Amino acid sequence: MYQPPKKKKWPWIVGALVAILILGGAIWAQQTGYLSQLTAATTPDDSQQVDSPEPQPEEVVTPEPEPEQPEPTPEPEIDRSGAKGYEGNETLPQEPTVIKGILMASKQYPLPADYAPGESKDARAAFEEMAAAARVDGFELVAFSGYRSFERQQELYERYVKNDGQEAADRYSARPGHSEHQTGLAFDIGEKNFEEHYARESFGETEAGKWVASNAHKFGFIMRYPKGKEKITGYMYEPWHFRYLGKELAKELTESGLTVEEYIEQ
Ligand SMILES: [Zn+2]
Repeated sequence: MYQPPKKKKWPWIVGALVAILILGGAIWAQQTGYLSQLTAATTPDDSQQVDSPEPQPEEVVTPEPEPEQPEPTPEPEIDRSGAKGYEGNETLPQEPTVIKGILMASKQYPLPADYAPGESKDARAAFEEMAAAARVDGFELVAFSGYRSFERQQELYERYVKNDGQEAADRYSARPGHSEHQTGLAFDIGEKNFEEHYARESFGETEAGKWVASNAHKFGFIMRYPKGKEKITGYMYEPWHFRYLGKELAKELTESGLTVEEYIEQ
């Protein structure tokens, strides 16, 4: 195992010194508990659920917009009493709930924390189809928010509670496990270059917002939290939030004027 005698000896000496240093370091780390801290910080739970890179460039560039905050003085024409506070089901199930073919993600029917399907390819394809049709009519639609993991929703919700308090946060944000964005089937839709209307009620007043409201069902989407249904859906009017149900269901719900909550209880 020794090298021929003519070779220099210094690399061996350096190697031995390095080995001693590594060994010494390892013993020190074990004694001080440094290693166990390192291990605890990189458990699979922490590393595997980090949001996968967002698939669309818009999502990377555009920060998650803060949802519109409730008006300080209540508007008399909009009854939001049903959306006040939190009357949902706190217990997360082991399996997702599907009713009448609809994967539920609501205050009453939360998703399991580990339900992490990623963005639905069908929903994305339907959005692209809708965006192409909108483009023909002169609107450049963007999905500024799509799939969100349980952990991401947790981060957002906790930030909103910190900023606005829990009661206010519950009116415009889903608690982790209760967001439709966790299904991979929901998109927050806006018009390119009109960020001032992103996640704002004002989007519903824009021509693009009106276009999406009246055409979404043709592509399999429904406006999930319509105006005047706050008590039923438990959420404020969100003219930007669309849920993919497939063309057949979306048409049925839109034509009947029923929300998902009303449809599953028919
Ligand atoms: Zn949304």
